[in-house]
Amino acid sequence: MCFVLLLGLAVGSFLNVVIWRVPRRESIVAPPSACPVCGHPIRPRDNVPVLSWLVLRARCRDCNAPISRRYPLVEAGTGLIFVLVAWQFGLTWDLPAFLYLAAIAVALAMIDLDVHRLPDVIVLPAYGVGLVLLALASADPGGTADWGALVRALIGGAGLFAMYFLLALVYPAGMGFGDVKLAGVLGLYLAWIGWGALVVGAFSAFLVGGVFSIALLAARLATRKSGIPFGPWMLAGAAIGIAAGEPIWSAYLGLMV
Ligand SMILES: [Zn+2]
Repeated sequence: MCFVLLLGLAVGSFLNVVIWRVPRRESIVAPPSACPVCGHPIRPRDNVPVLSWLVLRARCRDCNAPISRRYPLVEAGTGLIFVLVAWQFGLTWDLPAFLYLAAIAVALAMIDLDVHRLPDVIVLPAYGVGLVLLALASADPGGTADWGALVRALIGGAGLFAMYFLLALVYPAGMGFGDVKLAGVLGLYLAWIGWGALVVGAFSAFLVGGVFSIALLAARLATRKSGIPFGPWMLAGAAIGIAAGEPIWSAYLGLMV
């Protein structure tokens, strides 16, 4: 668990770079990180997740410019999510697939909030990488293979993609094609877990997104036109589906019978 936490903090630190540079179409490997105000490269000892921000008291060592608290928050948040994912899946072949999903989810949610886009350079590779990692999880080397889960994932991915595609056609103001492409990836993962996870995950996005949108409108923090992006709600819904979709769905079916 300690290792997963450290891994999450390190990945979160990298995601900060992704969140800043991908919408600006900059390379995520070069040049090394620098202070956006004075341009001084960030020293390795000032690049330790969370701790450096605390030690520096949220200011650049060179020009004293304030450093946003979102950097340590993204790092700590990614660390926490990684621990929760490891807690759910344990040390299994499922773990790499879902840690990868967690990492891109953090980046996509932040970028969508920032610039209302879900960049193709993150979403499209997720079809390939996600499928390979889910295939590895289905193969479960040393355990029992479950190829049915992989078939279900393909059906779920296509299904959720198609559903969002129709929504985007009917209601283009509320749904972008970025959401449609993300839906395919989330459908893969949710259906890999089970049909219950897929149904609950897809439904939760609209439930959570709807409730929060109404709350924001009521609190006058948003106007109808400010256009709250839907990507973060899709990701939150998927998290609910992955964490609790199967038990929620069986409980629901139990009530119906
Ligand atoms: Zn500086």
